[in-house]
Amino acid sequence: MTHDGAVLDPDVPFLHADDLAAVRGDGVFETLLVRDGRARNVSRHLDRLQNSARALDLPAPDLDRWRTAITTGQRTWAEKNGRATEGLLRIVYSRGRESAPVGQAAPRERAETGITRESNEATAYLTVGPVPARVASVRTDGTSVITLTRGYSVDLAALAPWQLLGAKTLSYATNMAAQRHATAQGVDDVIYTSSEGQVLESPRSTVIVLNGDTLITPPVEDGVLPGTTQQALFETAEKEGLRTEYRSLRVADLIVADGVWLLSSVTLATRVRELNGYEMPEPARAKDFAALVEKAIED
Ligand code: PLP
Repeated sequence: MTHDGAVLDPDVPFLHADDLAAVRGDGVFETLLVRDGRARNVSRHLDRLQNSARALDLPAPDLDRWRTAITTGQRTWAEKNGRATEGLLRIVYSRGRESAPVGQAAPRERAETGITRESNEATAYLTVGPVPARVASVRTDGTSVITLTRGYSVDLAALAPWQLLGAKTLSYATNMAAQRHATAQGVDDVIYTSSEGQVLESPRSTVIVLNGDTLITPPVEDGVLPGTTQQALFETAEKEGLRTEYRSLRVADLIVADGVWLLSSVTLATRVRELNGYEMPEPARAKDFAALVEKAIED
């Protein structure tokens, strides 16, 4: 459906072939879990959408319209599939068509082609579809992971803001390549490290470590995406008396931790049960941790 609430036939083509989402990955997105007929963590996702759009010099997204579109999307999903069926709601917001991009000065040739500045529009739509089949098993059985270098320093985010490290851009080709590399090595997923060997994140999730009563995650300044699930977890964990920390971690810290999880909106808590071939012992509080994440996304 489009951002102004029109529900479209999913089998009818929608994007123009020259949309900058398709030809440059020049846009941002969000992925939300629809559970019991309700999209979760909506405010945090819309905050991040707004921050990502700002980083790309896209026009500020109209958050009220997005909220209405999300409500229509979740209702349509529940009507067609039942409230008990989880859905994956994806928001896409791109710079629009190459012939009329938004958020940058209109090039001179535009006047010659007769396309006016006013006709420029961002592309804005959302889809709701089934959650991938692997989600159920990673939630219960955990995942095997290798560490792979991202090849750059934790300084990159501050030194080169044009690299858009904290923004959730549509350019995920390198993330998907890292996951294919992991599959070729016979494991499920990846934890990226910086050139200094510091732990960063996974291609599609945030790394969380449990040590005693403290939850730790790498700081966003190190060049990771701020995770909405991690933020919700930290808020709930603090209310429950746990401590939370943003701190740089090394791979050795993961090996000796009481538990390591990958967190994301759709998979929720996925325990790392194997890291670089090492079998990680099941933490005594693994079930409590998963329950805490479920509680954190209740709102
Ligand atoms: N880090 C990256 C690179 C991601 O793509 C994602 C998921 O979208 C996350 C972390 C986790 O973010 P969230 O919990 O908001 O889904």
